[in-house]
Amino acid sequence: MTYSHLDRPIQFLKGVGPKRADGFARLGITTARDLLYHVPRRYDDASTVEPIGSLEVGMDVTAIGRVRSKGVIPTRRGLRIFQAVLEDDSGMITVAWPGQPWLDRTLREGDVLLVSGKVKFFHGRQLQPREHTVLERGSRSSDDSSVPRAERGSGMIFVSYPASEDVPQWVLRGVIDKNLPDMIAWADDDEWMPSRMRSKHGLISLADALTALHRPGTVYEAESGRRRLAFDELFFLQLVQARARRVTLNKRSGIAHRRSNELIRPLHESLPFELTGAQARALREIYADMASPQRMNRMLQGDVGAGKTAVAVFAMLLAAEGGRQACLMAPTEILAEQHARSIAGMLEPLGVGVTLLTGSLSASERRAALNEIGSGAARMIVGTHSLIQESVTFDSLGLVVIDEQHRFGVKQRMSLLESDAAAPDMLVMSATPIPRSLAMALYGDLDLSILDEVPPGRTPVKTALRSPDRRSGVYDFVRSEVSAGRQAYLVYPLVEESDKVDLLSASREFERLSSDVFVEERVGLLHGQLRGDEKDRVMRAFMDGDLDILVATTVIEVGIDVPNASVMVIEHAERFGLSQLHQLRGRVGRGVAESHCILIAEPGEDALERLRAFRDSNDGFEVARADLRIRGQGDLFGSQQHGRDPALRFADLLADEDLLVEAQREARELVDADPELARPDHDRIREHLHTYYQHRLAMYGVG
Ligand code: ADP
Ligand code: MG
Repeated sequence: MTYSHLDRPIQFLKGVGPKRADGFARLGITTARDLLYHVPRRYDDASTVEPIGSLEVGMDVTAIGRVRSKGVIPTRRGLRIFQAVLEDDSGMITVAWPGQPWLDRTLREGDVLLVSGKVKFFHGRQLQPREHTVLERGSRSSDDSSVPRAERGSGMIFVSYPASEDVPQWVLRGVIDKNLPDMIAWADDDEWMPSRMRSKHGLISLADALTALHRPGTVYEAESGRRRLAFDELFFLQLVQARARRVTLNKRSGIAHRRSNELIRPLHESLPFELTGAQARALREIYADMASPQRMNRMLQGDVGAGKTAVAVFAMLLAAEGGRQACLMAPTEILAEQHARSIAGMLEPLGVGVTLLTGSLSASERRAALNEIGSGAARMIVGTHSLIQESVTFDSLGLVVIDEQHRFGVKQRMSLLESDAAAPDMLVMSATPIPRSLAMALYGDLDLSILDEVPPGRTPVKTALRSPDRRSGVYDFVRSEVSAGRQAYLVYPLVEESDKVDLLSASREFERLSSDVFVEERVGLLHGQLRGDEKDRVMRAFMDGDLDILVATTVIEVGIDVPNASVMVIEHAERFGLSQLHQLRGRVGRGVAESHCILIAEPGEDALERLRAFRDSNDGFEVARADLRIRGQGDLFGSQQHGRDPALRFADLLADEDLLVEAQREARELVDADPELARPDHDRIREHLHTYYQHRLAMYGVG
């Protein structure tokens, strides 16, 4: 790793020293680089700062003034109010912070404050700030009444940073001021972007971007700085993935599948439905990949019930038409069996059989299956993910379909590619709808096909939000559905009672519900700690209609299909992510009956916002966007944040989709033109990649 001045510990910067360094460390700033890339929290445009003399009751304003006097005022009701009088050269105003007496210790006379909030009438004008920032530290003796209030329209921007009690705003600002020119000069050595690329994407230089970030002339300048820094993040993310993609495509030459329509046409004719536009589009993309001699490395993404399995079956048939084998791998045995059943059903009219390979086969069944697979007699194979781990020998594997349900780890995916088998095409099916931009960021090494259209004739699931005190009404509803011949799921976050958290558990509730609440109904219990055959028995009983109500943990999330189930009740809904709730909801609404998803939650405000967003949309992609918007993208790349790897600080996956598309195109073009980045004009890019993204390169095995 080459040394950069930016790796200098923070304590050696001007105005810091060992004592303050601790405070900086608690803000996550330990080096000059951390400081330089400390993202401002907000920008205030001085041209919108009002002179104090002209503030009027009712205005919502930003103002700047110097603290002339201050103190804590007790009220009769016991509330303590901190008050300060702010002055600029146009006048004075009282500023009050009810209930925040401690500010008396942190704010001093002489401080210059930026405040924003509403001007109220209370013994004259009074401003109650939503937000305040110390722009300049004053001293008691200061009698200077001038403030750094810029003239209107002068374009001065005040930058506020995430700060702390140890390292308040004015300290951060001061340290950045003192060191910015040095840090920018050091950062200039990191400039990797050729000017032709800069002008192509309308981006400014790294030095200019960092200057604009900290000391912008206008808010637009700050935004163009952010865009450049966001592009850097997205570009290198994509560059690593583009290399992984290239390695995958080139490692061994792939198979150019030949289509005869011998099987595909009969399937089209025998299916009781027409493909949706989205399915047809995805299939065109898949067929084109499969026909090419390059290896397919594609993800098929779509909501639960969007018809991914049908698409996969056509792809599998294409492999079979050319005399190859195709296998589909599911995350659980139940799911593998279900896939095998539904695929066998679709292929029956064609006279094509399906071979199932799971851990619950008897020794002789297993031997028979392995023989069929090894001899090539088995064309369509379905199993669990262990198909790749075990030493299963295929005769001529042409296509691997991975039904991942959840995010499939990069490691697992890469290990599949390293298997010694031929070079089968790969299709990853994901039932976790995520926004396209997020999918591009997470799976930039794959190509994407998205099923964003639900087959016709589905009745959307009705979703309701209930507080726990209305639980018995929910039980009545479940009872009425059951007596109408339907089935219901009751889902809990835990299996067992836990001393750590006070949550209802599936086991305990199963006891209570079956003995006290649903006495007439047949109730079963399903959770992940049951033995495999036990799980299977319960699930089968529910599928066959021998149980009315299934009390379960989220094990049912993974793809079980029971068309007669019309109610999904989820307890402690606030504990689940929206995408997970959506997966659960997808378990109902698979038949003709109108279906219901009832969330029972005692949520705080945040949870309520999320759950409402969920209730109001049946579209998995929309739900995912809401989840991303509300929860933020903070931990998305959690495992990738490592050392100097900057992850995503500036890029906003929802807002920067255009930038991401450009970054991906640029990265792929670059790697296609110069795979090793060996050309002299790519020296800087290669160095930058290896200096800062070593960890990610290693993760994809392309270091
Ligand atoms: P997914 O795998 O995406 O969850 P499936 O492939 O299991 O979805 O499809 C869900 C249901 O919809 C299945 O019963 C399937 O037969 C049916 N289906 C699939 N595609 C269509 C379509 N184009 N029109 C009508 N029904 C469809
Ligand atoms: Mg399915």
